Amino acid sequence: MDVSRRDFLKISGGTLLLGSSPATGSAQEAQAPELRIKGAKVTTTICPYCSVGCSILVYTKDGKVINVEGDPEGPINEGTLCPKGASLSQMYNNPARGMKPLYRAAGAAEWKEVEWDWAFDQIARKVKDTRDRTFKTTAKSKVKEKKKADTPDESGLFPEIEVTVEKEFTVNRCDGIAHVGSAAMDNEECYLMQKLVRSWGLVYIEHQARI
Ligand code: SF4
Repeated sequence: MDVSRRDFLKISGGTLLLGSSPATGSAQEAQAPELRIKGAKVTTTICPYCSVGCSILVYTKDGKVINVEGDPEGPINEGTLCPKGASLSQMYNNPARGMKPLYRAAGAAEWKEVEWDWAFDQIARKVKDTRDRTFKTTAKSKVKEKKKADTPDESGLFPEIEVTVEKEFTVNRCDGIAHVGSAAMDNEECYLMQKLVRSWGLVYIEHQARI
């Protein structure tokens, strides 16, 4: 039988299509791999790494992080993540992750693990003591003022002149503590933190974020 080039392509194409006909119905479902995130709890959060503050969906199952992906509803990243954010689960599932606070006493060379309650008590004690020791109700400052000159000018009048004087002002501030915020904090957390540290009288308040 003579088979033209065109006939050959028709025959072989039909054979290929028959050979690759997809499975249907339950057979198709049986072949589909089960989704890794099936039945997992989804929690929205913010990437703690940098000041971009991408929104993240964290999937947990049996108390373990099993998947992390960008939140499509996050207005900053719209579902995308950089490689660092996409590998966030490695921070949680990491045997080297520090789970307890570390403390190095003044003058000591070594850090040692301490209990959270002990660390919180220490922080509260030091904040209170430092605030009590460094809180100022008033402070002196140099300001410019206008006043009549003590001596008359050539026309016999006492001109108005500008002088620098030191005055005492009510300040009610704590100069002994500074606070640095974190890009991992959201708007509401930053608001609460501002309320807290300003209620202590802090004026040196900074933030790491560069948004
Ligand atoms: S995902 Fe990347 S870009 Fe976004 S906040 Fe995290 S580190 Fe920054």
